[in-house]
Amino acid sequence: MAESIELPNRLAILPFKNKVLLPGAIIRIRCTSPSSVKLVEQELWQREENGLIGVLPVRDSNSTLEGKKLSVFEGVASDAGEESPKVPFAASDSHKQKDQQEPIHWHMRGVAARALHLSRGVEKPSGRVTYTVVLEGICRFNVQELSARGTYHTARISRLDMTKNEMEQAEQDPDLIALSRKFKVTAMELISVLEQKQKTVSKTKVLLETVPVHRLADIFVASFEISFEEQLCMLDSVDLKLRLSKATELVDRHLQSIRVAEKITQKVEGQLSKSQKEFLLRQQMRAIKEELGDNDDDEDDVAALERKMQSAGMPPNIWKHALRELRQLRKMQPQQPGYSSSRVYLEHLADLPWQKASEERELDLRAARERLDSDHYGLVKVKQRIIEYLAVRKLKPDARGPVLCFVGPPGVGKTSLASSIAAALDRKFIRISLGGVKDEADIRGHRRTYVGSMPGRLIEGLKRVGVCNPVMLLDEVDKTGSDTRGDPASALLEVLDPEQNKSFNDHYLNVPFDLSKVIFVATANRMQPIPPPLRDRMEVIELPGYTPEEKLRIAMRHLIPRVLDQHGLSSEFLQIPEDMVKLVIQRYTREAGVRNLERNLAALARAAAVKAAEQECAVPVSKDVYPMAESLLDTRLADGAEVEMEVIPMGVNGHEISNALRSTPALVVDEAMLEKILGPPRFDDGETAERVATPGVSVGLVWTSFGGDVQFVEATSMVGKGDLHLTGQLGDVIKESAQIALTWVRARAADLKFSAAGEINLLENQDIHIHFPAGAVPKDGPSAGVTLVTSLVSLFSQRRVRADTAMTGEMTLRGLVLPVGGVKDKILAAHRYGIKRVILPERNLKDLVEVPPAVLNGMEVLPAKRIEDVLEQAFEGGCPWRQHARL
Ligand code: ADP
Repeated sequence: MAESIELPNRLAILPFKNKVLLPGAIIRIRCTSPSSVKLVEQELWQREENGLIGVLPVRDSNSTLEGKKLSVFEGVASDAGEESPKVPFAASDSHKQKDQQEPIHWHMRGVAARALHLSRGVEKPSGRVTYTVVLEGICRFNVQELSARGTYHTARISRLDMTKNEMEQAEQDPDLIALSRKFKVTAMELISVLEQKQKTVSKTKVLLETVPVHRLADIFVASFEISFEEQLCMLDSVDLKLRLSKATELVDRHLQSIRVAEKITQKVEGQLSKSQKEFLLRQQMRAIKEELGDNDDDEDDVAALERKMQSAGMPPNIWKHALRELRQLRKMQPQQPGYSSSRVYLEHLADLPWQKASEERELDLRAARERLDSDHYGLVKVKQRIIEYLAVRKLKPDARGPVLCFVGPPGVGKTSLASSIAAALDRKFIRISLGGVKDEADIRGHRRTYVGSMPGRLIEGLKRVGVCNPVMLLDEVDKTGSDTRGDPASALLEVLDPEQNKSFNDHYLNVPFDLSKVIFVATANRMQPIPPPLRDRMEVIELPGYTPEEKLRIAMRHLIPRVLDQHGLSSEFLQIPEDMVKLVIQRYTREAGVRNLERNLAALARAAAVKAAEQECAVPVSKDVYPMAESLLDTRLADGAEVEMEVIPMGVNGHEISNALRSTPALVVDEAMLEKILGPPRFDDGETAERVATPGVSVGLVWTSFGGDVQFVEATSMVGKGDLHLTGQLGDVIKESAQIALTWVRARAADLKFSAAGEINLLENQDIHIHFPAGAVPKDGPSAGVTLVTSLVSLFSQRRVRADTAMTGEMTLRGLVLPVGGVKDKILAAHRYGIKRVILPERNLKDLVEVPPAVLNGMEVLPAKRIEDVLEQAFEGGCPWRQHARL
């Protein structure tokens, strides 16, 4: 087709800097300089028929001038063929002023081109017009004369490429045929190589079959990246044979370079070792993870871990140890078995508060006292002892005083006292529960060789609290037991020993940790199970339990406000009058502490909260808080203005509820409500009287880990062979006490006037059964001795024991009453049950100083030296055998 196009004698010339447009090639250029814009506008844009322009290569003045056919014209610059619009166009008419500009080297052969596509654009904000033109090279021409008149150059030209007829003749030349065949073979080879890489070469294949070979040569070469010189050389190859051999050479060279590149790639790929492949795969995996936003990258993790370790402030020797471990971790692959355990270990090391401590303020004893008083009712002696402890710490901060140990039944405030100490010292508080710990590893941790090994509870607690100087509560030290898995108490010994705890060795950490800055406080329900060496390290402070009056005060001042607050209520909504609290104490709780009382009060608060929430639901959905003028509403709607809304988050806590309901009258708890919410009373004062209504039942006082309690002892007889049956989960000691009691009663049978005279066998043809309710609770201890005798005497004499009297005391075989422990708790328990008289071993009278006077005032304490004294007080009208006694 190109061969048939007639070229005019003159063509407007568009200079191409360092670039050549070959016939058959298509190029897209953006014209920005005034001269090229003018050229495009006049020669292409405004022409109705398809216009032609001449594209002439120019050599950049920087590049060396080699081309023989480049002529020098001065005063013209060009930017066509490049994007930069910044090169100013120097109008050819104004040569003079441009004389100083660098000379432009024109090539004297060019290519006539036509526009396949034109688009005009206006740059903002300058308003400058630009054109984007897609040009197709048509045929070569020779410049005969270049004129610089006007805004752009024009040239008188002569056609160089052959016309169609000339071509047909030339094609007959056998040399040319051979050359074209060779070119086609090479081109085909290139196509087949490219075909393996990309699928789009099929179009090129079609070209090969349809386009004349001399044009093909230009098209192929134009598609390679070759130097400007080679492009010029191709442009200058007007002779067909020359052009074909030049093109064959270039295509062949391109083909060879592709082959070499392929070979190199194959070789390099073959040399990639397994680890390199793995590395590549990992890189890909990382890229995928990043793409997914899943950034748990191991490399970065280890680096982050190291940073964390650096900021943990480990002592130098431990830091060295940690670094060694980290180095090993670095060498491992994440899939390797030890990797995760090693990492977790280092995480543990890095998380520990090696040096981080809560800043200690100057201890203000007055503030500490106020804090203890505001948190706890009563407990005067205990608080005094705590203040003494704090005073010593103030004077000598590193004093190695004994560890405080609060001993008492549950719910008496042991934990909350310890947390008040922490608050007074401005330290963090952590509670470590030791109840049921039987394995030493619970305290010291497991060695890392175990699967799933972990640090012990102490180190774990320190990690959680995040400082090295917290107040640490060792809760329930009496509940640790020892078995085959070691002795936790001995580990605790090390923890509490100021000499040893400087370098506490947790098996898991395997490096020493300094516990000397920790303030330890322990709690226990009972002293007795604590191993003596451990007891030795601790200063015991006993909290005996509260009287009902104390409980009432605690409830009114501390528990009710706290419970209301926890449930989002206020006294404006729920009121629990004193009388009702008393009823809760008497009928629903019989405990030494106040935990159940708190629970019951919480139950009342919960019920009230439900009511409050229900009423809240019944509040109308909309209401006029401030009546709004109707006209205002109307205009707003009419304007359709957008209204911005501020959303205020609603708290879940019920303060809002109580606020919302402030206007409604407060809910006052009454007896009916108590029964409805808490159920029927669980205890009543008439219980003792009811139970001792039949002979054979006596009332004992016992001591449990929940404080003192009342224990009924029931005895009955039946036809049998003289056996003694004992039930009620009894321990060996209590069984022996029962045996002793029976023996004593049998030995005194005659004296007690159970029978008329002489030798009597009380067990003749009858068995005795003694039962200690409640049957499911294990019981043991010697203090039930006197109670057992009383119950047997009651049984044999068929006399009822006094319902208002309870007793405690160990008895010897000869009838002596020995002192027992836990007197204070037992008397408090009796007080709780409404018992007015308590029979105590005489040698226990000294313990009465510990009993609150308020309790003692309403109670008659009857000392007993011998069992006969007990019996004398236990029965209405005195001892059943008085008349016959020979004592
Ligand atoms: P323990 O540790 O002895 O089992 P807690 O310290 O957990 O008991 O106390 C149970 C609840 O009773 C806590 O809410 C505590 O504040 C409260 N409490 C106990 N004794 C008093 C007291 N004397 N004054 C105020 N609240 C108390």
